[in-house]
Amino acid sequence: MEMAQIGATPKGGVKRLTLTDLDLESRTLFQSWCDDAGLTTEIDQMGSMFARRSGADDSLPPVMIGSHLDTQPTGGKFDGALGVLAALELVRTLNDLDITTRRPIEIVNWTNEEGARFSPPMVASGCFVGAYDLEWTLARPADDGPALGDELKRIGYAGARPCRAGPVDAYFELHIEQGPILHAEGKTVGVVTSAFPSTGLLVEFRGETAHTGPWPMPKRQNALVAAARFLTAVDDLGWTYAAGGGKGTAARLTAWPNKPGILSDWAQTVTDVRHPDAETQAAMAEAMRRAAAEAAARAGCTFEILDTWTWGGDIFASDLVDSVRSVAIDLETQFCDIQSQAGHDAYFLARHCPTAMIFTPCRDGITHNNREHCDPGDFEDGLNVLLHTAVRRADRDVH
Ligand SMILES: [Zn+2]
Repeated sequence: MEMAQIGATPKGGVKRLTLTDLDLESRTLFQSWCDDAGLTTEIDQMGSMFARRSGADDSLPPVMIGSHLDTQPTGGKFDGALGVLAALELVRTLNDLDITTRRPIEIVNWTNEEGARFSPPMVASGCFVGAYDLEWTLARPADDGPALGDELKRIGYAGARPCRAGPVDAYFELHIEQGPILHAEGKTVGVVTSAFPSTGLLVEFRGETAHTGPWPMPKRQNALVAAARFLTAVDDLGWTYAAGGGKGTAARLTAWPNKPGILSDWAQTVTDVRHPDAETQAAMAEAMRRAAAEAAARAGCTFEILDTWTWGGDIFASDLVDSVRSVAIDLETQFCDIQSQAGHDAYFLARHCPTAMIFTPCRDGITHNNREHCDPGDFEDGLNVLLHTAVRRADRDVH
């Protein structure tokens, strides 16, 4: 609740965009809590914070536990912050009980998970595992102007630690589900088994400017219309596959000049399609690409797919997932297996080291919304599962 006061909105949520003064304030508070817990903190070149608790054998790779403190413009108190502070609570618990784990434990606060100010999202964890080039990432422009690297310097978080993953024993991320399943079924713990296969597209449409009055309909090449037709087609695609859990998202439309009295000659869209079944998802992705071509042709425009990204699938380490489940059983929690549908830093970490996620419920699944809400009872079980799973992992024998 103290963290949620930083960037608190009148509607009860949080607006704490990455690398703003409010983000700096949240980092300073988190740093002070890490200092109090006796942790050693390092900042990497992407501004991610790594707070380390020594193990009995510090030559062993750490068990990492993390999430993010940045939010969407209409964010809630728990998306991201819960995972970072859960890790801190875990460390405080070990301190209180005077327990030293065999392996060190490292808490991570990843920079720009949300991608709300700098696109794409999850760039810091992506860079950490080598999915993105550091120079390219630092050059990403904010919607409000400055480059990511310049904002890192401005708030004093352009760190010295190389943004390159060394050996990591395992990565855990606790996160609110951001969907309605756990809450509806009365479960307190979601054992995340896999992630919805997903494909995203950045598409550019090009047309020709003209006066909105005299210019004849047959001659029009309105890029805004091409983009709009494409976006509704992606939404339709989601409806077509909705019964099986499919989703099609029209996330963003930018147009230029986007003024009354003139047809736009440029538009850019961000869309994605998701489905629990990989083959069906691939068919949806193919249909999305066709829809871009059809929308452009119908509006007399050209189009180009500037970027495409895929994520999800069976990315989590089965032995870690099993371990999360067996702890959930041992602690007699109300749990169920669940797929992750949103993107998380854990997806990138899974490319580098054994990774698992634990979900906790949020009321009605409402998230990326000021009304996002959890009661302490909603996440106590999840925190205990995280504690015991991570400590078991950190303490296991050296082979
Ligand atoms: Zn999040």
